[in-house]
Amino acid sequence: MTLLVRDLDETALLARIFPLLPAGAATLVGPGDDAAVVAAPDGRYVVSTDVLVEDLHFRRRWSTGYDVGVRAAAQNLADVAAMGGRPTALVVALAIPGDLEVAWVEGLARGLADACSHAGAAVVGGDLSGAGVVMVSVAVHGDLGGAAPVLRSGARPGDVVAHAGVRGWSAAGLALLEAGKARPEDGALGAAGPLARYVAGYLRPAPPLDGGPAAVAAGVTAMLDVSDGLLRDAGRIARASGVVVDLDAVALAPYAADLGAAVAALGRDDDDALGWVLSGGEDHGLLATFPPDAALPAGFTRIGSVRAADGSPRVTVDGLAPDVGPGWDHFRS
Ligand SMILES: [Mg+2]
Repeated sequence: MTLLVRDLDETALLARIFPLLPAGAATLVGPGDDAAVVAAPDGRYVVSTDVLVEDLHFRRRWSTGYDVGVRAAAQNLADVAAMGGRPTALVVALAIPGDLEVAWVEGLARGLADACSHAGAAVVGGDLSGAGVVMVSVAVHGDLGGAAPVLRSGARPGDVVAHAGVRGWSAAGLALLEAGKARPEDGALGAAGPLARYVAGYLRPAPPLDGGPAAVAAGVTAMLDVSDGLLRDAGRIARASGVVVDLDAVALAPYAADLGAAVAALGRDDDDALGWVLSGGEDHGLLATFPPDAALPAGFTRIGSVRAADGSPRVTVDGLAPDVGPGWDHFRS
């Protein structure tokens, strides 16, 4: 008989979860007391929170508990990296229906643990509640290592625009699942085949977390993680910095080419691939600006440049307003 959440009391459920959670170097007091205590060697800490709600951000028929755990951690860890910091500790609030399998919750804990241990971060506590659907709320803390935080407002005319991480994989993976061209199993751990990486990219994004501190070392002037699509997030840097961000279509072409197998499986064309590159969300790559003479850190590719705002701050692709271009409008959300 399958063990369900309602078959256990909270203490028994927590007793199954705690041993799965990762400890981090900064944890002074871990789970088990009323609150955790985490070292902040820098004297300041980075803090952010993000929530995932079933049927809004993920579907249980596609995402395992493990997938949701990785994704919940990844989007929070990416926010710390985007500030130039290293994540130290997560707290996780979990609301779940009573008929959820306990194995699903254990999978979630393993997913959180794997994503965090790559980053050296701990899960130091949380809360459990009943609910009609699964909801995972994570708060992340991080350390700046003595550096100034990297804001969205620091881009200057003449800067280079660069990106680290994948582009469009999550959007392509979701489209493949929605169209029935791929199954969740195609993106399972260890899955092979031409579509596996897109489906995995949707189910379990893997942000380039080391890129945050590396960008700081290289003199980064502005940065964020691309959660809502390249155009929208580049627009945030443009507005915060009061500049024009010019994206270079030639520099973006390899990202579109990288989506070729997904485009082919869906019977779509190159415009659609460019649409995913420009507007696909939830890859959690890092978008950053650097002074023109900076050596880009490993993993970053130059995709454009910054110029003074002649009129309103905005994003262009090859100097044109992307709103009027064909191909990507229908990916807008
Ligand atoms: Mg972010």
